[in-house]
Amino acid sequence: MKDKDIQDEASGPGFATNAVRAGQQRTNEDEHSEPIFTTSSFVFSSAAEAAARFSGEEAGNIYSRFTNPTVRAFEQRLASLEEAECCVATASGMSAITATILGLLKTGDHIVSSRSIFGTTTVLLTNIVAGLGIETTFVELPDLAAWEKAIRPETKLLFLETPSNPLGELVDIAALSEIAHKHGCLLAVDNCLCTPALQQPLKLGADIVIHSATKYIDGQGRCMGGAVCGTDEVVGGGVFGFLRSAGPTMSAFNAWVFLKGLETLRLRMSAHSAAALELAEWLEEQPEVERVYYPGLQSHPQYELAKSQQSGFGGVVSFELRGGKEESWRLIDATRLLSITANLGDAKTTITHPATTTHGRLTPEQRAEAGISDSLIRVAVGLEDIGDIKADLFRGMR
Ligand SMILES: *Cc1c(COP(=O)(O)O)cnc(C)c1O
Repeated sequence: MKDKDIQDEASGPGFATNAVRAGQQRTNEDEHSEPIFTTSSFVFSSAAEAAARFSGEEAGNIYSRFTNPTVRAFEQRLASLEEAECCVATASGMSAITATILGLLKTGDHIVSSRSIFGTTTVLLTNIVAGLGIETTFVELPDLAAWEKAIRPETKLLFLETPSNPLGELVDIAALSEIAHKHGCLLAVDNCLCTPALQQPLKLGADIVIHSATKYIDGQGRCMGGAVCGTDEVVGGGVFGFLRSAGPTMSAFNAWVFLKGLETLRLRMSAHSAAALELAEWLEEQPEVERVYYPGLQSHPQYELAKSQQSGFGGVVSFELRGGKEESWRLIDATRLLSITANLGDAKTTITHPATTTHGRLTPEQRAEAGISDSLIRVAVGLEDIGDIKADLFRGMR
């Protein structure tokens, strides 16, 4: 790290400062913490002002489905961390993905997507989006040649998660963004697993960053939310246009929880990353473990890319036990501390059997193509003592 005691004022506040302070607009009550504006609508001083707001002639709040001051504070804070011009908050991570696709694409357009994406995103693309006449071709995440080959004249969007969940595969975002732009496509990155504390895809050339705020941005498993970050033109235009008419808006209360989550995001991500690395290294040494998937391991085929593209490796570790579903379920059922739940990004460590939960709605062929075997277990490492987490997993191994 560079020795810089004094921040260059011309370049604006640093990441940690923005995480605590960006987006806050104090009201004339002089509150210190951000207020929660629980109001559906906003009042106008006259009929003429109402007309000017509705026509867009005058900026200002109208109705919380469009804008809300607490939600706006969250959007501006997250935008500052992703170094984005614009951020639009949504009711969930899935509605952030839906708003991106339906806000920017139309019938006849085509998507190229990584095969290794969140299970529900696969269902959205293959069942709902395909039903609207927007087809998706799935490719192997790391294979740049396969991405380029899958692009057609009608391709508008490339979509991916890096690292992927649960297998921790990566793609070179800078290289893929060049391919996307050469063919006139937008590159969207679901940055849920890293958050801007560990990876800033827009700085690497991506056009859109998508979040499930439900995960690490909340950080304590309380609220559902999502966000889309990018340019004023793309996100402030099509994505916001979809949101205000289709309505998957973030609530003011949830936005406030996420604002507080962002304040501790960097601290939590480095603690999750340190604990996950220690767990992954320990799992690699256990004879009952067939294989460990974690980008921070030197045995990971894309370790060098992970080191250059991310500033930390994240909290999700997956591993395959020797055996199959029976052995994996036995290990999961033997835990007493870990929570058996599909969520991740919580202070509490969670353990999941992807093949029968998050990826259970995929066909067996789709699961095999995505590399989700019956012996795979995913652990989203929380903030407990790492020795307690190891002891809990060890119990089910013997
Ligand atoms: C959870 C998750 C989503 C969906 O987010 P919700 O808030 O549950 O709607 C999307 N992408 C990834 C990578 C996720 O982990």
